[in-house]
Amino acid sequence: MSKLEIRDLHVSVENNPIIKGFNLVMQGGEVHAIMGPNGTGKSTLAYAVMGHPRYEITRGDILLDGQSVLEMAPDERSRAGIFLAFQYPVSIPGVTVANFLRTAMNARRRHAHLPQEEISILEFRKLLKSKMDLIKMEYSFGGRYLNEGFSGGEKKRTEALQLALLEPSFAILDETDSGLDIDAVRIVSEGVNAIRGPKMGVMVITHYQRILNYLKPDFVHVLFDGRIVESGGQQLALQLEEHGYDWIRDKHGENLIA
Ligand code: ADP
Ligand code: MG
Repeated sequence: MSKLEIRDLHVSVENNPIIKGFNLVMQGGEVHAIMGPNGTGKSTLAYAVMGHPRYEITRGDILLDGQSVLEMAPDERSRAGIFLAFQYPVSIPGVTVANFLRTAMNARRRHAHLPQEEISILEFRKLLKSKMDLIKMEYSFGGRYLNEGFSGGEKKRTEALQLALLEPSFAILDETDSGLDIDAVRIVSEGVNAIRGPKMGVMVITHYQRILNYLKPDFVHVLFDGRIVESGGQQLALQLEEHGYDWIRDKHGENLIA
């Protein structure tokens, strides 16, 4: 079973410390929710785990199955099994969803040194359709340019399709629910649940608890001022829904006075 371990992580953006001592151990198959007010460092954490060059790790370590990933480039981390669904997915005019996904899959197969490195187009089409069925996506999306003119829900569903095809060990979903109406949140969550399986670990980053009604996390953590200040079960998310983040600020805000 895979394990993702984040140890005493400190991350700076343009010399501003944002993440200040973040610790988390995630086992494959577990769903961890990271909640917190806006601007508290949730996306910074996600980018740092993925290896975005702008997010400088000044202290601590990130280990995948006991191996530090800090020296690995983002594409190596992705091939090693870490997947990030962006809060704001980019569009790539001229590249179809199907071509993009086939390229990503082939890159991974080459890395894994599979005997047949390139998946045949026929085989890929079959696989793509089966994954599209899984997340209830229309086949016509395969022929559209990546994210070009997609609605918020369609972009997120496309990320879920990518997740289904690449089958990472750990998926980080950064505000997959933001800007979606409740039906879209449900559809995307059902998609993630369908592909989750017993092995994939999921870190779901969210400001609101509504997506957690569907994804049902095993653990809920509150990120505040760059570190986890509260951990619990789904009850903690409901408490945040009811009382907002003010009690977190009241309880932990003294950290901000430096
Ligand atoms: P969250 O996702 O929790 O809303 P972010 O991680 O996006 O929070 O942001 C945390 C803090 O880091 C904010 O004060 C934000 O302005 C700053 N920050 C994040 N990314 C950048 C960046 N690329 N350049 C400058 N500041 C950034
Ligand atoms: Mg964010």
